[in-house]
Amino acid sequence: MSSSLATVAYIGATILFVLSLGGLSNQTTALRGNLYGMVGMTLAVLATVFGPQVTAAGLPWIIGAMVIGGGIGLYAARTVQMTQMPELVALMHSMVGLAAMLVGFATFIDPTASAGFEGAAKTIHELEIYIGIFIGAVTFAGSVIAFGKLSGRVSGSPVLLPGRHWLNLAGLLVVIYFGGVFMQAHDVQAGMLPVIVMTIVALLFGVHMVMAIGGADMPVVVSMLNSYSGWAAAATGFMLSNDLLIVVGALVGSSGAILSYIMCNAMNRSFISVIAGGFGTTSTPKPAAGGAAQPAGEVTPVTALETADLLRDAKSVIIVPGYGMAVAQAQHTVFEITKFLREKGVNVRFGIHPVAGRMPGHMNVLLAEAKVPYDIVFEMDELNEDFPDTDVTMVIGANDIVNPSAQDDPSSPIAGMPVLEVWKAKTSIVMKRSMASGYAGVDNPLFYKDNNRMLFGDAKKMLDEVLTALKA
Ligand code: NDP
Repeated sequence: MSSSLATVAYIGATILFVLSLGGLSNQTTALRGNLYGMVGMTLAVLATVFGPQVTAAGLPWIIGAMVIGGGIGLYAARTVQMTQMPELVALMHSMVGLAAMLVGFATFIDPTASAGFEGAAKTIHELEIYIGIFIGAVTFAGSVIAFGKLSGRVSGSPVLLPGRHWLNLAGLLVVIYFGGVFMQAHDVQAGMLPVIVMTIVALLFGVHMVMAIGGADMPVVVSMLNSYSGWAAAATGFMLSNDLLIVVGALVGSSGAILSYIMCNAMNRSFISVIAGGFGTTSTPKPAAGGAAQPAGEVTPVTALETADLLRDAKSVIIVPGYGMAVAQAQHTVFEITKFLREKGVNVRFGIHPVAGRMPGHMNVLLAEAKVPYDIVFEMDELNEDFPDTDVTMVIGANDIVNPSAQDDPSSPIAGMPVLEVWKAKTSIVMKRSMASGYAGVDNPLFYKDNNRMLFGDAKKMLDEVLTALKA
């Protein structure tokens, strides 16, 4: 493929990626957005593999790597459970970081990659390598720890080292100092030590940054690492002089940054404080995520039959899904119940918290999969005022996002986080298996309120029973 044809293909792919992002901003156009993305990526890969930068000798290597990588990706995508998606995404971000790191080292070592750079161009090229390896290492280490936290392999409690902000600052100064040494090095041998020291500091910084973040702030970390992976890809693009990678990396980097900003707003957190680590966390470690909370009162359990009665008598119902609905895969039964109630004239709506589940948009994906109409799915802000006029709220496997202590208890680790005020409805019903806490590891006073009922059991099983009782 000639270089001009490759450029045309790259421009086409760039347009498709922009259209893809535009499509993904709305549920009704999301499918089309995904399709644009897939076509754009195919075009980009073909134009790169058959483009002028790849020699015939390199082709078998590329095809071999694509078959192995594609095979692993296909296997992972087919076998991953919906509840494991966030950890898979974190793992993929770590791969982008690792790739940026390795490309950085390869570009640095390979004499042909630096040939032809003189004066200012040489300085810029070396800066690209240094910054590229730095971003890659932070993304890699941070994403591996995020993977550990999301999969429960690493405790969700924040690890707060004494003087952690000073440690971060010291790390940054070391990176800047060795950056100067690296830029003055005349050959690979002299430059190797500073770049290795910087890589170690960057890896430690990535680990430290994510370890310091408590359970409830993890959504911001997930979206932030998403953004970092974009910048890591853009840095790789600079090192490889690949314009498309620069553009795509910048698109991912900036959209991830916007998402992080939205998540911070949704959780009433300051973006800078979250990335500096440990904001919103007390110095006393919280109980591990998912651990049993301390009982703080009496709860009123109900049966599926009683739940069906409450729903049948209601005129308006708001359903609040959370992580437990994803675990139980209860979304299809939820829709069956919704259909039944709507046919009986009940006004049923869904209230979605921005950080419900374990990844941005988690609940929207599940509800879309179950074919719940978009016009009855509302965001938290659109619905929060309507709870006092609602007869029944059904909380399905949600916990932190409906915790009143976020408003009432300034010492709570989730203090200040906006929540769905389900307790303001006439009756709220919480479906979960036990009294265990949610991801943030804090007790939930909602369970003990007079107008709250607890329907204990697996959400899918209990909702099946509710549906049968409704139809009986
Ligand atoms: P939570 O983790 O707060 O609560 C989920 C609840 O679901 C648990 O208390 C659990 O209780 C229950 N549950 C689990 N399995 C089942 C089942 N099979 N049937 C019924 N219930 C079940 O989830 P929320 O969605 O309320 O809040 C999300 C939390 O995750 C927030 O703290 C958020 O910050 C965090 N987070 C969000 C991310 C995002 O991007 N959205 C990313 C990372 C973290 P029990 O065991 O008793 O059944």
